[in-house]
This record gives sequence, C-alpha cells and structure tokens, in this order.
Amino acid sequence: MVGNVLVGVRTPQWAALCLGLLAISAQTASAADCPGHPGALGTSRTLVVDPRQHPRIGTMQYAETLPLRDHEVVLTFDDGPLPRNSNQVLDILASQCVKATFFIIGRMAQSAPEGVRKLRDAGHSIGTHTQNHPTGMKRMSIERARQEIDDGIASVKTALGDDAALAPFFRIPGLSRADGVEDYLASQGIQIWSADFPADDWHHISSSRVYDIAIKRLEAKGRGILLLHDIQARTVAALPRILRELKARGYRIVHVVPATPEQPATPTEPQQWQLHPPSENVAISHWPKIPNFVFANAEMLPGPALSDLDWRDGRSMSLVEASNHASRPARRVPLPREAPWPRQSSLAPGSAANVLPVPAQSIFEIQERPHAATQELATPSHHAEQPVPTERETEGLAKLISVGASDSPGTIAVPIEAR
Ligand SMILES: [Zn+2]
Repeated sequence: MVGNVLVGVRTPQWAALCLGLLAISAQTASAADCPGHPGALGTSRTLVVDPRQHPRIGTMQYAETLPLRDHEVVLTFDDGPLPRNSNQVLDILASQCVKATFFIIGRMAQSAPEGVRKLRDAGHSIGTHTQNHPTGMKRMSIERARQEIDDGIASVKTALGDDAALAPFFRIPGLSRADGVEDYLASQGIQIWSADFPADDWHHISSSRVYDIAIKRLEAKGRGILLLHDIQARTVAALPRILRELKARGYRIVHVVPATPEQPATPTEPQQWQLHPPSENVAISHWPKIPNFVFANAEMLPGPALSDLDWRDGRSMSLVEASNHASRPARRVPLPREAPWPRQSSLAPGSAANVLPVPAQSIFEIQERPHAATQELATPSHHAEQPVPTERETEGLAKLISVGASDSPGTIAVPIEAR
C-alpha cells in the first residue's frame, strides 16, 4: 500500500504530506490495535504528569488523584520483580497491549536485575518502593526513611543501567505515610503514589476473589488507580479475567509517564486532580495491618548487612536480622548523590493540607489472625491454587515468606463485604 501510494505522487510536497498522513495513521493504529491480538484491551492514551505539580496522588490517602476520565484505569504493580510471577504478568499485559506502572523493591531489583530491565524494554513505567520494604515508615526516623528511599532508587538504577528509565514515582510500603517522608520525596521531585483502590491480593484469598474485589471497587468509583502485586500468583491468575472484564465493561487503560523537557505534562485543569467523591464500597480502612515479613534464604540475598545500614527501627529487625546472617559479604549500593530528576526543594509546602487522616485501627473491619495480614510479600508457593516453584525458578531470588502464614480456612482474611 505504501509503495502504491508513493508511485502516484509526483511532487515532493505531496510525498511529504502523504508520508506524514501515513505516519499519523500508523500511530493511531498502534494505539488502537494490538498486533496479533485482535480484540485486546490496549492502552488508550498516555498521561504525562509533572510530579512537582502534583506530589501526592491516590484517593485512599490524598485529596488529589490522577486526572482520569470516567472509565479510565491505571494499573499498578508492587513489590517485584519476582521473575516467576512477574514475567507472567508481563506476558499477560503484553498480550493485551496494556502499559502499567511498577513499584520496585530495591532488594528485589538486586536479586533480579533482568526483571527490571524487562519492564523497561516492555515500555512500562518504573517507580520505586524502598530498598527493603520496611514495615512502618511512619514510625521510622527520617534518616532511616531517606536511606530506604535513596537505596531503593540506587538499586533500581543500577539494575537498569539507565537513569532515564526510572520514573520519579514512589509508593510507600503499606501506604504507611508520614509527613517527613512525604516532605523528603517532594523535595526530590518524586511523586508519591497511593492508590484509589486495592484488590486485596496480598491476602490469602482466591484469584476469583481478587477479580471480584478489583471489579467491584472499580465499578464503585468508575475510574482510578488499581493497586496490585505482580509477585502474587493469585494476581497472575486473576489478571487475564480482570483485563477481559475491563474491556467488556468499556474501561480504558491509561499509561502514566513523567514529564521531561522533551515531553511536557499533559494539559489539565486543577479540578481534574481533585478528590472524587469516595464510595462507601471502597473502604480505605480495608488496607491491612502493617505487614511483617522476613526474607528467607537470606544467604542468597546480596543485600546490605545490618552493620551497613545501622538500622535502629525495631520494626525492621525481622527483615534485617535475616540479611545479617548472610554468608556473602554485603554489597551495599552507594547512596545517590543526585536524584535523576531535577530537585525541587520548594515543592513540599502547600500539599500537607491534602493529606487525609489515616483510618483508626478500630475501624479496620478485616478480621484476621495475628499473622494473616502479613501476605504482601508472601511467596505464593504455599497457597492451595498455586504450584510450588522449582528450585531453578527461585535460584538467586529473594524468596519471601510470611511470618506464621497458614493455609487453614480459618485464617483466610475476608473483607467485610464478603461476609
Ligand atoms: Zn509493597
């Protein structure tokens, strides 16, 4: 077709015009279609955001969220990469030509750097999620919190070997927000991503339950940021059905990328970022208790030793103690001296008023045994519907286990709406 068109064109001007039209047509086609996958969900548009203008987003905690239109969804995945499951998530997203945002744990990036590069090569956005996924940044000294943030960024940058591929996006583990943490991130020009609704996929629930929760909460809000975990096998199992249902219900996927000098932010109006009316069906209080997990097989983890990190936060000790027994010498990632994006130290003020109060413990309605809420980083191998990974698959990885997890039916954490 291209050749035939050009044969009939005599003047350079017309040739240039036709080529231009062809280029536009090709761009439109690539956005709307998914080669080899007719009927795929696709990615409807790319939203370019300036973290300096909107440093905190997600209605689970903040007054602002992404300026999405009705029936637009942003997919986010936390805690990877864990290649066995994360690679499947990548394949599923690729089969639907869907772009997402991943929040990477630094130590996971150290264990599976190729997994981080796969995200980049697939065109997804990559943010960070601290170095060690500490269990309560709101109780941590700001020095420790800053180190967690900086080390996580350094580890992901090292895995990528390309600073430009890392977006200034950050999600606080367990959404354990704190003023000092938020102020520091804002001073670095880093955007904090809470979420608009989770799918509870860190709990011991079935994949069909993850699907049900994801769709129900999305329908309640009509748009928003969905929080998922690519390390969870139940999420891998639920994701194809979630994407099919999004397509069937007329939802559209939006890919979010940070603004750069070459790619300015998508023009928006301030009110588009404002809190949408919360729904009673999307309970902020459903966020779990602070997860408490340890890295198993710590000798396989090339992470920092306790002496290097000088941890003082008691909550982090279960994790750090495991790494401290590492038989290998610790390979500490040097702290970045300079953020990969412009520092904007004047950004912190003005957004504190946008913080919503953290729900009181008393209104948490998920009834769980003491350790049932420790699944955010749980390996899926002990879950009934998940095959046990082979030794080869787990070799060299940070194998994560929950503390005291059990598969007995009595420990299944069921949100109030399911009971
Ligand atoms: Zn997490």
